[in-house]
Amino acid sequence: MAAGASDLPRRGDRSLAAEPAAPNNRAPHPDSELDMPVPTTHRTQLLIIGAGPAGYTAAIYAARAGLAPLVVAGLRPGGQLTITTDVENYPGFAQAVQGPWLMEQMRAQAEHVGARIIQDVVIAADFSTRPFRCRGDSGDEFLADAVVIATGAEARWLGIPGERELAGFGVSACATCDGFFFRGRRVAVVGGGNSATEEALYLSNLAAEVILIHRRDSLRSEKILQQRLFARPNVRFLWNTVVEAALPDASPRPSLRALRLRDLRSGAVSELPVDGLFVAIGHDPATAVFRGQVAMDQAGYILVEPGSTRTSVPGVFAAGDVADKIYRQAVTAAGTGCMAALDAERFLAASRFAGQEAA
Ligand SMILES: Cc1cc2nc3c(=O)[nH]c(=O)nc-3n(C[C@H](O)[C@H](O)[C@H](O)COP(=O)(O)OP(=O)(O)OC[C@H]3O[C@@H](n4cnc5c(N)ncnc54)[C@H](O)[C@@H]3O)c2cc1C
Repeated sequence: MAAGASDLPRRGDRSLAAEPAAPNNRAPHPDSELDMPVPTTHRTQLLIIGAGPAGYTAAIYAARAGLAPLVVAGLRPGGQLTITTDVENYPGFAQAVQGPWLMEQMRAQAEHVGARIIQDVVIAADFSTRPFRCRGDSGDEFLADAVVIATGAEARWLGIPGERELAGFGVSACATCDGFFFRGRRVAVVGGGNSATEEALYLSNLAAEVILIHRRDSLRSEKILQQRLFARPNVRFLWNTVVEAALPDASPRPSLRALRLRDLRSGAVSELPVDGLFVAIGHDPATAVFRGQVAMDQAGYILVEPGSTRTSVPGVFAAGDVADKIYRQAVTAAGTGCMAALDAERFLAASRFAGQEAA
């Protein structure tokens, strides 16, 4: 599993705004004989942070609008779809496509229309003055008249043996995405909050049997959701139980055979044969680096004005899962990526008109 938002470096102590801008061209560096990379300052009209469906779509629209966007790709270029296999619900493809392939196509399309993609991770941001300033893990600085934050969110995983190896081969963190592949099969959902209850409800329309596994003896989700779930005849519950391992089949193509469970009261260990495991213990938006810069909700999702991608800072926009804890789909991320580019374009045009844009 690639590192999540919590693994990203936090904002440094030194104020970005207090630092002098480095020259645009690479200057001689005192350590040059040691072959140390020299930090560079990148100046752009539009900085897009994140290279998932939201970031690439924003890049495509912005490049075609002549904004010459710069995309910082982060630790996982291509985003969450690079850790899945079949994608069957992204419009435009009659047959399932592979997630990594789809993201390569989006990247190629963004580059084809003129977006520049840089491999770096934004570790600090200062949106208090324009141009906005971000610093990469490489030491490079990014100065931008407008910014699109498209850093996504990371599903939480259990961290059990077999989970990583079987991700995309029976183990998933998204029922809307992968439930269809388990029509008429037996699946397990792990978790006890709203996510798990909603995932189990969704799956109960598709799977023959849904087994919800929770380490406590009751759900934490909204009562109305619980009532709906309890009323489903094909859903059963394993309380006070944890999943200790996802066990693979012996077939050449990896697939899930069963779960190893532990009953927390008795300590008894058992095997539960299942075709699919849906881990539904929440998501973490990748926003630690923007804390204090733009308004967020308690869970760290960036707040945007309804019907737009505008954040609390004029000129800073947010698209995709980083601002969406409801839909969390590639197509919705791409849709808001498009909106962010159009919002940014309008913002930059208005700024130019007002003569505010930095030289
Ligand atoms: C296992 C799995 C299967 C899925 N299957 C489907 C499916 O079949 N269909 C579907 O529609 N959706 C699916 N989804 C959901 C879909 O992947 C997401 O909704 C979508 O990827 C969100 O796109 P995004 O661009 O907002 O963010 P992400 O895809 O999460 O991309 C975030 C990007 O931001 C970058 N980033 C993060 N922090 C920084 C930083 N500090 N500096 C620079 N860059 C940074 C990352 O490197 C990454 O490139 C699936 C998700 C998972 C986990």
